[in-house]
Amino acid sequence: MEKTDKMDWSLIKRAIVYLVKESPGIFPLAFLQAAMEAAYPYIGILLSARILTELADPGRSMEHLFRTALLLVGLNFFGRRLMDFGGQLLDVLQYAVLKHIERAVAEKAWKMDYAMSAEPKINETKQRITRWHYGRGVLALVGQFRGLFQAFVTIGISIALVVEFFRAKAVGEGGTAALLNHWGASVLFLGLLAGSIAYQIYSSFRIQKYYFQANEAAGKPMSQMMYLMDSCFSEYRNGKDIRMFRAQEQIFGKLRRQSGEYLEKMEPAYRYERRKNSFSVLFSRCFDLLVYLFVGAKAVFGAFGVGSILKYTGMVAQLGDGVTRLCDTVRDFLQNMEYVKVYFDYLDMPNATAEGTLPVTDEIRENYEFEFRNVSFTYPGAAAPSLSGISCRFRKGEKIAIVGRNGSGKTTFIKLLCRLCAPQEGEILLNGVDIRKYQYQEYLSFFSTVFQDYQIFAFRLGENVAAESEYDKDKVTLALENAGFGERLKTLAEGLDTQLFKRFSEDGVELSGGESQKVAIARCLYKDAPYVVLDEPTAALDPVAEADIYQRMNRFTKDKGAIYISHRLSSCHFCHRILVFEEGRIAEQGSHEELLAAGGLYRRLWDAQAQYYA
Ligand code: ADP
Repeated sequence: MEKTDKMDWSLIKRAIVYLVKESPGIFPLAFLQAAMEAAYPYIGILLSARILTELADPGRSMEHLFRTALLLVGLNFFGRRLMDFGGQLLDVLQYAVLKHIERAVAEKAWKMDYAMSAEPKINETKQRITRWHYGRGVLALVGQFRGLFQAFVTIGISIALVVEFFRAKAVGEGGTAALLNHWGASVLFLGLLAGSIAYQIYSSFRIQKYYFQANEAAGKPMSQMMYLMDSCFSEYRNGKDIRMFRAQEQIFGKLRRQSGEYLEKMEPAYRYERRKNSFSVLFSRCFDLLVYLFVGAKAVFGAFGVGSILKYTGMVAQLGDGVTRLCDTVRDFLQNMEYVKVYFDYLDMPNATAEGTLPVTDEIRENYEFEFRNVSFTYPGAAAPSLSGISCRFRKGEKIAIVGRNGSGKTTFIKLLCRLCAPQEGEILLNGVDIRKYQYQEYLSFFSTVFQDYQIFAFRLGENVAAESEYDKDKVTLALENAGFGERLKTLAEGLDTQLFKRFSEDGVELSGGESQKVAIARCLYKDAPYVVLDEPTAALDPVAEADIYQRMNRFTKDKGAIYISHRLSSCHFCHRILVFEEGRIAEQGSHEELLAAGGLYRRLWDAQAQYYA
């Protein structure tokens, strides 16, 4: 991870403003909670000290003792309840911000260039951000500011008690009392205290540093493990191939190797912590002994009551805690700024394809022409362009077919047209204006699409078709019938309310590949946009169903523009124009008859397939 050398105040400010905007109550509540947490231990320490002192006093009042004990129990009880309640309230606020962050991450993923969102590095960043939860990133700042405040309050109270401790003088004429009251003894005590705290801070710093380095190194095997678990165990459809190809051993082998690698990367940190911890326990016990001796001696020599031994030894422990907390929190805070930066950098990534302000007016919808002008496109990180020098035009009412071998760039062409990716060279124009200048959502609403890798969601059937929860039932039913799903719909007892897939419901209905495809086509029909794009929408259908769908589609897209991509040339020979793609270029274009007559690639593909249709 990239290190920033100096404190980035604007980043801190941005993060605070972000949190305050999302949840105005979050910081006040966190500070209140911190103040209570800091004060709470002192209730026990101070009141117990008072009880002990009074018990040791021959003139004690039982009634007063009883009242103090009651106060101690009451404050302990209500204080704890109040803090629990505050903690739960803070959890709720933090949870809401967490959900907002997850949403922002997802929305960004949908807004950024589609090709960019497929980049492994960006995907990993996206997954990492959603895994941070409360521990890292913007949301972790709440806990860190809370920790800082708590540390300040603890240190403040402890310092007041330290002053009180030194002002209490041992009484007596003897040398010991004089020694205890000597400024040198106080300096020695403070020096030891400072030394002990410094040692605690040092070892915690070192341990954290080791963990930080180890976590960074172990991040990769961890992500790989999560991916494997997700894809192999959670997605039941993958079970088919896993069973048939006996992939279990391979998966477990990979998991074993990854978890071995993970442990290997983490081991130095574990080892270091074990070693350091045994040292620091020994060290702090010795220091505690000295503190008890010094405080006890002052009590014996009458500087304060016996109960105050509890108070001042408690104070030393609290001061140590406070300073350690302060240092830990400052360190976490500094480390965490890296993660905050990762988060905002992710949100700030350009949405090159999603900019644009021009409206897609009704006139454009009524009468449009697209033009690709010398367009080239290379996927991020790819060695060779997937499309080069593409030029073509198509307009309303025109049916275009795109054919070509696998990997020739047909789908990429569609992605560029639909502004899922932006070309690096050339331009794509709608009525003479670069498509990127149009308002993104309005532009997208121009297209009804069925992609090759379309998604049907685990929602209800009707919701899937309408892509929203409230919809026109008749229109959805008609779309399903036109997509060839009418007969199957009749067999579904709950009709449009049928839950699809078993992921969320026992009664979920599983669809076959062909049925899913029909639902995707119905969704395309329902949207009823001016331009229709079908990227091999019928690959899973049998030839009879396919011919049927194409006929219906043709009727539906009568006045619209449409692009069909198909492997079966017979499905699209009725199109006005056929573009033949080869290695990212348009190798030929023309009508079916023209291309057959030309005797080029199309002719060869046609002849190769014709034997199946003969
Ligand atoms: P077709 O639809 O004609 O089968 P595509 O447009 O899907 O072809 O792919 C064209 C080329 O771009 C292929 O070589 C493919 O490997 C490559 N490609 C497709 N998607 C990506 C991607 N997300 N990242 C990198 N390369 C890709």
